[in-house]
Amino acid sequence: MCMSIDSTDKIKAEVISCKLCNLCRNRTNAVPGEGNSKASLMFVGEAPGRNEDEKGRPFVGLAGKILDETLDKVGIVRSRIFVTNIVKCRPPGNRVPTEEERRVCKNYLQREISIVSPKIICILGRTAYESLLGDGSILGNRGKFIEKDNKLFFPTIHPAAIIYNNKLRYALEKDMQTLVSECRRLNIPI
Ligand code: URA
Ligand code: SF4
Repeated sequence: MCMSIDSTDKIKAEVISCKLCNLCRNRTNAVPGEGNSKASLMFVGEAPGRNEDEKGRPFVGLAGKILDETLDKVGIVRSRIFVTNIVKCRPPGNRVPTEEERRVCKNYLQREISIVSPKIICILGRTAYESLLGDGSILGNRGKFIEKDNKLFFPTIHPAAIIYNNKLRYALEKDMQTLVSECRRLNIPI
């Protein structure tokens, strides 16, 4: 019997034609996770926005620019990490994805996590925090390492929050510095 081996390319192909929830109706392109499928670090955002929907790639708009600038500043190379979202299609008007949409789409994220098998999952913002860690508040837990189900999570501010409040830029940079220091301490290649 031939067992097919899962891969990020396989997930990508499935996501691109997925019709499992209503978000498929308004999308231009679905946005699968992308990057290094053997990355030590995975970043998880909320959902694609307008630019991501147009291009079919995660974090390529203004939030993506802020993410890239922050990564640059702390010495994380984007091509070495894996970047994805809780849901893979843009919610109309950028509304927060519903619990049902997140539940239906989560299978793709779980498979991305299990294939990439990152050492640390960096959670960007409240929606990803609630979807991945559930309890507690991101405000009380950002910038800290949290172990759950044998995985290490690191919640921080969503880069889009900086568009509305530039003071948060420094908090995001500080968290990313903490992340990099911990990677160095644990000998995690970044
Ligand atoms: N915001 C997200 O959460 N994800 C993206 O891919 C872009 C903006
Ligand atoms: Fe499928 Fe996820 Fe897109 Fe819904 S959001 S259609 S589950 S890929």
